[in-house]
Amino acid sequence: MSREMFSPLATGSTIGILGGGQLGRMLSAAASRLGFKTHIYCPEVGSPAAQLAAYETVAPYEDLDSVRDFAESCDVVTYEFENVPEFTAKAAAVGSILRPGPKALATAQDRIAEKTFLKNTAKVPVAPFEQIDTIFDLKRAVKVIGYPCVLKTRRFGYDGKGQYVLKGEDDIAMAWETLGEQPSILEGFIAFKREVSIIAARGVNGEIASYPLIENVHKNHILHTSTAPADGHSGKAKAFARYILKELNYFGVMGIEFFQMESGDLIVNEIAPRVHNSGHWTQNAGCIDQFELHIRAITGWPLGHIQLKHGVQMTNLIGRDIENWDTHAREPDSFLHLYGKKEPKPGRKMGHVNRIIYVPRGQLNK
Ligand code: AMP
Repeated sequence: MSREMFSPLATGSTIGILGGGQLGRMLSAAASRLGFKTHIYCPEVGSPAAQLAAYETVAPYEDLDSVRDFAESCDVVTYEFENVPEFTAKAAAVGSILRPGPKALATAQDRIAEKTFLKNTAKVPVAPFEQIDTIFDLKRAVKVIGYPCVLKTRRFGYDGKGQYVLKGEDDIAMAWETLGEQPSILEGFIAFKREVSIIAARGVNGEIASYPLIENVHKNHILHTSTAPADGHSGKAKAFARYILKELNYFGVMGIEFFQMESGDLIVNEIAPRVHNSGHWTQNAGCIDQFELHIRAITGWPLGHIQLKHGVQMTNLIGRDIENWDTHAREPDSFLHLYGKKEPKPGRKMGHVNRIIYVPRGQLNK
């Protein structure tokens, strides 16, 4: 059985991170500011996160002996991507304390489990949905949900991959085939006004902190900009975040994505049990950023104050966008964050720029 730890972890302790990408890198940087060491577990040598970490284990996630040894060398273990295999998470939880816990991972990995939890347990609004295991389920479900609707794979969908929008009966066979005839979810198509998100954290004493609402714009299904604070009030989104975090008995930072309707109503699209791309702007908002907030939350530290001192717009640098790094490096009121990746492949997140934007003081922390 895993130990539990509710008193603050001493500075100098070691935090294990499953995953070696940019989120792990920025978590490592934040952890080191508080005097912690990080140990990265990643199948690839020289990952962006390992470049900044005190210790590195290079092994597959399926190598459970290595996962256990890694976990035993850490005082707490977290993860930077939600597709950590269940058996890997369990092995880590045996060797150390895993935060957020396995329940959050299991919920976020499976769109049916996620939507069912959001609707029935957290009691927040979600798109109408139906579970699809066969083409017959799909034929039945389109009659319940109506057109347009969206077929998504239950697992491993990201950045719009593993999705098909159905506009009529003629699309059924193609949608089912394109997604690989695998367990899926059919959702009603939401005619939203905009996409927004919230970044919230829960500490081990149940303390909850949320930044204000963020407006997100995507390009080619990949996040392009996040602007904070978004126009409008954050109260409803923060309340939904509170229900979700509490019901999962969650420790750490979570990203929650919403569709916002013309009326202002919010519909939860998905949850990410980790620091989130739409929260990178927090690094330059004059407050504790999401990475430090996560480290504080999983180590039992006080969450601290996360009041913004100014607005920020984050722009992702995708693929060859990185070639303009020197222009960004010269821009006033801009902060460049690069991830140490060598090859700028199409669609690969290479870095981001945070630009300070003027927002009247009274509008910053609504
Ligand atoms: P997801 O992988 O669920 O985050 O979906 C990726 C993107 O597809 C979202 O950011 C939306 O722009 C779009 N999308 C997903 N689900 C729906 C839906 N039910 N209705 C309308 N658009 C959707």
